[in-house]
Amino acid sequence: MIKTFLFALLFLSAIGFFTYSILNFLKYLKIGKRENRLNNIGQRIINTLQIAIFQSKLFRQKFAGFLHIIIFWGFLALLIVVIEGFIEGFVHGFSFSFIGKFYSVITFTQDFFGLLVLVTVIFSLFRRYIGTPKRLQVERAAKLDATVILIMISLVMITMLGANAERILLGNSAGLRPVSQFIADNIITTPSNTLYEFFFWAHNIIVLGFLNYLPYSKHFHVLSSVINTFFSNYKIDRKNVIKPIMIEDKTDELNPKERLIDFMNDEVPQLGARDIEDLTWKNILDGYTCTECGRCTEVCPANSTGKLLNPKNIVKQVRKRTMDKGPLVVKKVESDPILEKALVHDYISQEELWACTTCAACVEECPVMIDHLSTIIELRRNLNMMESAFPNEVATVQRNLENNESPWAFPADMRNDWIEEFISENGSETNLKKLSNEGSADNLDVVFWVGCAGAFDNRYKNVTKSFAGILNKAGIKFGVLGSEERCTGDTARRLGNEFAAVEQFIKPNIETFKHYKIKKIVTMCPHCFHSLKNEYTQFGAEFEVKHHTEYIGELISSGKISTHKGNKSKFTYHDSCYLGRYNEVYDAPRKAINNISENGITEMKRSKSKGFCCGAGGGRMFMEETEGKRVNIERTEEALSTGADVIASACPFCMTMLTDGVKAKEKTEEVKVKDIAEIIWENIKE
Ligand code: SF4
Ligand code: SF4
Repeated sequence: MIKTFLFALLFLSAIGFFTYSILNFLKYLKIGKRENRLNNIGQRIINTLQIAIFQSKLFRQKFAGFLHIIIFWGFLALLIVVIEGFIEGFVHGFSFSFIGKFYSVITFTQDFFGLLVLVTVIFSLFRRYIGTPKRLQVERAAKLDATVILIMISLVMITMLGANAERILLGNSAGLRPVSQFIADNIITTPSNTLYEFFFWAHNIIVLGFLNYLPYSKHFHVLSSVINTFFSNYKIDRKNVIKPIMIEDKTDELNPKERLIDFMNDEVPQLGARDIEDLTWKNILDGYTCTECGRCTEVCPANSTGKLLNPKNIVKQVRKRTMDKGPLVVKKVESDPILEKALVHDYISQEELWACTTCAACVEECPVMIDHLSTIIELRRNLNMMESAFPNEVATVQRNLENNESPWAFPADMRNDWIEEFISENGSETNLKKLSNEGSADNLDVVFWVGCAGAFDNRYKNVTKSFAGILNKAGIKFGVLGSEERCTGDTARRLGNEFAAVEQFIKPNIETFKHYKIKKIVTMCPHCFHSLKNEYTQFGAEFEVKHHTEYIGELISSGKISTHKGNKSKFTYHDSCYLGRYNEVYDAPRKAINNISENGITEMKRSKSKGFCCGAGGGRMFMEETEGKRVNIERTEEALSTGADVIASACPFCMTMLTDGVKAKEKTEEVKVKDIAEIIWENIKE
């Protein structure tokens, strides 16, 4: 009776305090902006099973993934022991043995996992203190937190096995328990009620203590990662899209809805995020989900080349700010030095934010579906549109965008230059048609979206002409917009200037597409490709968009063009982040090279979804890189280490960065950087 009373006291106080912590946590999430993430529940459940329960993303690093899945699955198997222990606290001698033979499967699994988890914990402690991989090297507090958790986990296992061994010795055990049996035969050996009670109480106190420690530890991810995965937009939204700015439409007061901001007519006090209340609840949940595994930081091109930016820290700072400010907001405190601060500047510096190349390697790598990029872009929006706090080069780019409709300082008329050159080289009877002459795209096979680099950059103009040559050779009737084309808005958007991106680029481009009835587009630039294909849909435009590497693949497989096989160059291929990670176009460029090459491709150490950025995305193309090693040098060195004499790429920004890298390494004689279109054009059959 006393045991039951004491257990009830322990159990109810522990559950009570845990509930209090969770309610507080939910109040902190509510500080963030509303966002509906309850669509497509079926896919969300599949994501949760695949990523949170079967931990698929952890296997991007096989050994660590294996260690983690043992701990996690061990924990799930042991949940039954925990529940059994709780019930036993109220009902003396309770066990699930009444379920029959299946009980032995449960007890065997518990024993087996108990031992496996103990061994894994020892390994994990070893990895924390000796032979620690760089990504797990954390500050003392975080290390202590991890150690406390690992020790708690091992104590849970030891007390469980101890209690089971005593049950066997006392003759109260049911089911198959080989490990506990071994302990009973060789280690504990004496039947003792006192020892059993000791293990019983120690086990339950540690389990309940662990439960209450979780909300204040990074190991809260045991719970929050499942929720975070459920609410992530994996396979629900298009990958790595920037969300437009939405505002609450209160026209129907009873049923307020969200709608796109109308920059010309809506007055909003804040654009982008200055502090946690400007982020969404999901961004805040991301902060509480971080396991501090460091996978994101390990793959970050900015961090690994010595910049201040550390994606793990961005997420951690969101959590820290929430923990600092959350309790004050919840208690409605109006004056406190903490309230004077803001997430941006006081917790995350603008230098960190401007160092991001938006390569999305962090997002791809994170095992618990944290979206660092959406937070970074929201903070950049505040810096750009509210504070005008950006590097000088960004000011220049924005001036160019405003005056020339392109990040470069060339007038729109110059977009016609390559067209005239192409026509004069190929004669006026080419398949290239100017849309201004055609009046509509109805009679064309495709519209060739050239992009700013394709029109203005002297080196990349050769790629434009090569691709136009391929289309011409294949008999494809293709239209070009010439001076009616303007930047897609990618650079402005990634720099946080949503206003310019939407009003100056996206909306006018959509008008042009509508005017010419454009339904199918092909482009060489992965940044244009991503924007047109995945982000213009947010503004009501939907058309078929192909990257030129995909289009070339179709032309080859349909027999419209054929190529010479047997090119003896040694090729390596650099994945553009916006083509690869963003849009999962990995095979088309490789197939194109394999079509002409005798030796195939020597892959770089980091390729496909693990590809390393060239350093130019997110507007970094136009910014100086003064801190640490240059990202393009790091990537060029990796490309050169393959022994290739052609570095193939499929993006104008990558081409510029790699060409500069090859120049800096003084290898221009031996190594050429070429676009897939050039490689195919040089090897096309007459
Ligand atoms: S998007 Fe790329 S550069 Fe930016 S934080 Fe993530 S990994 Fe680093
Ligand atoms: S954000 Fe994700 S990848 Fe980065 S440390 Fe946290 S859990 Fe690991």
